[in-house]
Amino acid sequence: MGDNKGMDRRGFLKTAAFSSLALGGAAALAGCAPAASTDGGAALSSTGDIAWDKEVDVLVLGSGTGAFAALVAAAKGAGSVCLVEKGTMWGGTAATSGGGLAVPLTYAAADAGVSDSKEEIVKYFKNASDGRVDEAVLNSFIDNGSDFIDWISEEMGWKFVASPLFGDYYEPMEGWIPMGRGSLGAANADGPMIASQMWEEMKAKMEGYGVEILMGTEATELITDGAGAVLGAVCGGQNIKAGSVIVATGGFDHNDEMRAKYHPFKIMATNAVPTNTGDGQLMGMAIGANVSYMDRCWGAPAILTTGDDPATLIAEGTIAQEIAGTDWAMYRGLPGAVVVNKKGRRIGNEAGPYDLFNQAFAYYDTGEPGHVNIPAYFICDAACWATYSLPGHTVGAVGEGDGSYFDETYGGEATDPAEVPAHFVQADTLEELAGKLGIDPAGLTAEIAAFNENAVKGADPVYHRGEKHLDINTTGVMAGSRTDLANPVLAPLATGPFYGAIYVPGTCGTAGGLTINENAQVVNTAGEPIEHLYAVGNCSSGVSGGTYVHGGISLGSGGVMSWVAVNHAMGATA
Ligand SMILES: Cc1cc2nc3c(=O)[nH]c(=O)nc-3n(C[C@H](O)[C@H](O)[C@H](O)COP(=O)(O)OP(=O)(O)OC[C@H]3O[C@@H](n4cnc5c(N)ncnc54)[C@H](O)[C@@H]3O)c2cc1C
Repeated sequence: MGDNKGMDRRGFLKTAAFSSLALGGAAALAGCAPAASTDGGAALSSTGDIAWDKEVDVLVLGSGTGAFAALVAAAKGAGSVCLVEKGTMWGGTAATSGGGLAVPLTYAAADAGVSDSKEEIVKYFKNASDGRVDEAVLNSFIDNGSDFIDWISEEMGWKFVASPLFGDYYEPMEGWIPMGRGSLGAANADGPMIASQMWEEMKAKMEGYGVEILMGTEATELITDGAGAVLGAVCGGQNIKAGSVIVATGGFDHNDEMRAKYHPFKIMATNAVPTNTGDGQLMGMAIGANVSYMDRCWGAPAILTTGDDPATLIAEGTIAQEIAGTDWAMYRGLPGAVVVNKKGRRIGNEAGPYDLFNQAFAYYDTGEPGHVNIPAYFICDAACWATYSLPGHTVGAVGEGDGSYFDETYGGEATDPAEVPAHFVQADTLEELAGKLGIDPAGLTAEIAAFNENAVKGADPVYHRGEKHLDINTTGVMAGSRTDLANPVLAPLATGPFYGAIYVPGTCGTAGGLTINENAQVVNTAGEPIEHLYAVGNCSSGVSGGTYVHGGISLGSGGVMSWVAVNHAMGATA
């Protein structure tokens, strides 16, 4: 990768122009692309039967992790860059996110005194992904990660800091470490930034470089020559010719058909932007691209705050829109709270990572055939309700108080504790609560009695809640680092009234897509790279076998593989 980093703009333009000419010739022969400009306007140039409306060196589809690709391309002198965004909101899901980037072996980890090695990282990714990770792609991610973080830090004037929140999720698998790989947070001169600031700053920077940003412009088709190489894309009805196309159109969270086809259990909530409908995967497959890990997602379960009937969502295969209860960290694991299924049985370690907990929904009951954990139910007692904020119910400051991550996420002006939002039910006894929610009352009371007996001693012999670093570093911090309890994330559900809500599987992005190689090139079903086509972010197969190895892996890998893609595109056209 290193040998083309210094290529200048003039050199790139020269070689890109050459490759465009060569490809144009192929297209003229093959003629397998849109025949004419679809808006009826004058074509910029015409190659054979393709009427081109615009010609650029790099075309990026999508403004989430695609923003990294466009920024790298523009700043490194890759020539003219155009980014098209289907939505009206800049930055996609990425700009609404926590903005944490998971990149290993960076200065941020070194600053935090983290000791780590490539060997341990590879071990960890392989174990966590159950061997599904593509080692060549993973090596590329690890080898380029630090360069990318150094570069973007200098380019943007940002400093990244490693946090113990959202560290490695698969403790105690071999290669696991508590912090340093996941969720590096960026700060500018004014202090820590939220993602929307990061994406606005990147936008301003790329506009300064002359990147053309076309909002409300949907890519609908990849244009190829007869031999399968990509020549450009149809975007908003315009035929845009490009030396390289980088697809960054996100997941297929909002495509009911694709979720039904690929996911092993029903996903009923998402906070990915509604424009993420699997367009990149579909456009790629239409020209022969392979796809990988389509059954995987970045799991993010949630209380169903929308009033949807879960049975209808399941029967119709639809998804709750504009969910407000995503359970990042981690109200399900607060002292005095549990999550149970309709039999009243707990379904997992409530204080553990959101994605791991989401995987508990996959459990299939062979006695009473079906996914018995879908939907599940969040249950808490009066002390938990009085002490902690939950979706639609706010008690004031949270965790360490003002400005902390948890306070930003869940804090706010206190709501009236006597007011119970519509998505919660309240009952004086557990039996009554079970009846209202449709849970087996005997099962629930027996389960909570057993849970309580151990919880007062600080123990959870079933799921070992509170025994993992993340339970304490993340959920424990949100719970206020309780020293009055034997275990900071465990307390019995002791006193009524009790509160309950429907709790469902969700995503903050699907994690399967166009199969990429170590250069972030999309490959076809024979494993051969499709010329001039790259994919990054959730529309790609990513770097971790679709496994949520630690917080920030989606944005971190999107950033690093954008860097890899642009470097390769610049070298490949030389
Ligand atoms: C509240 C929240 C917090 C999160 N925190 C983190 C975090 O801290 N770290 C982390 O790594 N991940 C986090 N995530 C997940 C992360 O935001 C997503 O996984 C990530 O944004 C995926 O990047 P992407 O570029 O693939 O998709 P997106 O960021 O969604 O971007 C895809 C873009 O492509 C556009 N698009 C779709 N189709 C087309 C088309 N046909 N033509 C043109 N444009 C198109 C979409 O409109 C969208 O803007 C969080 C998510 C949420 C909701």
